[in-house]
Amino acid sequence: ATNERVFNFSAGPSTLPVEVLEKAAAEMLNYDGTGESVMEMSHRSAEYKQIIEDAEKNLRTLMNIPDDYYVLFLQGGGTLQFSMVPINLLTGSKKADYLITGNWAKKAYEEATKFGDVKILASSEEDNYSYIPKFKPEDIRPDVDYVHICYNNTIFGTHCNEVPDVGDHLLVADMSSCILSEEVDVTKFGLIYAGAQKNVAPAGVTIVIVRKDLVGKAPANTPVYLDYATHAKKGSMYNTPPCYPIYIAGEVFKYLLKNGGVKATHERDVEKANLLYGYLDKSEMFKPSVAKEDRSLMNITFVTGDPELDKKFIAGAKEQGMINLAGYRTVGGMRASTYNAMPLEGVEALVAYMEKFENENK
Ligand code: PLP
Repeated sequence: ATNERVFNFSAGPSTLPVEVLEKAAAEMLNYDGTGESVMEMSHRSAEYKQIIEDAEKNLRTLMNIPDDYYVLFLQGGGTLQFSMVPINLLTGSKKADYLITGNWAKKAYEEATKFGDVKILASSEEDNYSYIPKFKPEDIRPDVDYVHICYNNTIFGTHCNEVPDVGDHLLVADMSSCILSEEVDVTKFGLIYAGAQKNVAPAGVTIVIVRKDLVGKAPANTPVYLDYATHAKKGSMYNTPPCYPIYIAGEVFKYLLKNGGVKATHERDVEKANLLYGYLDKSEMFKPSVAKEDRSLMNITFVTGDPELDKKFIAGAKEQGMINLAGYRTVGGMRASTYNAMPLEGVEALVAYMEKFENENK
């Protein structure tokens, strides 16, 4: 039926908690007695100030972010951070080392090469990014300004299952596709960034968590929007912020706090992922695509080995209300994104369909 919600396995923008969507719908025309939608609200109003301040406060609680870090709500997606990170942080030796674990990590690296002496620390590109390449702290050039990693590789389905050891070097991480799915020790990072459209909110807001001492060193000719200091000084209100996505992000943060915080969210994510990986490990037809120790909880990639069969599987899933299961356009196969808001029932339905499909297509 067309009025029923599907299970959306998209890698992003992706599914949001139904409870949050229902609350937003109820508040659409009249937010909290103001007589207006948050979409229509002045970002300088007292009501909006409360929304953005609560969002920041609740994110700080969820991620245990210390006071010596700024939390910024910016625009431009993960992609603009590929530029803002080197512009703002290549301020000493102007050297940085990048770990190449997928398309997004490579794009971040290529962008950074425009701004300094940027090198590849290690790469798994030759093996189609099917694992996270290992490196030792000694492999890092001693005087780099930072080391950049992509914590969860959305396209390939790999994840850094521990924080890589970078010695005393500053670590910068793209957490676009795993933020709030696991507890992280923020103090191990100089900067964390994440586009919102997977675990947080609709597309349009990007979260940057940055240690305060790293801000304010960008070159004088840095465009004003691209300098973290601009936003840090003005509480993410230098210009009109992405008001509505920030409001939804704030509602998602409240929802997560109400449901046990990041720890409980992680446990639910592990349960969902184990269910699907468990089936993949015993299936004769479906094969997981990446190294076991580097598996992502958020993006689960697999193949049958036969592109025609993959196509049939994806089309059949869609008929049953399970959408966006095709792998990334350059990769093929299947990818089930099981972000925080994917209910367990969605993964149960997927596994039941896989079993049936396997039996019927032997
Ligand atoms: N980094 C990661 C890990 C991603 O998955 C994506 C997009 O899916 C990006 C960066 C690019 O983000 P955006 O589209 O917000 O610029």
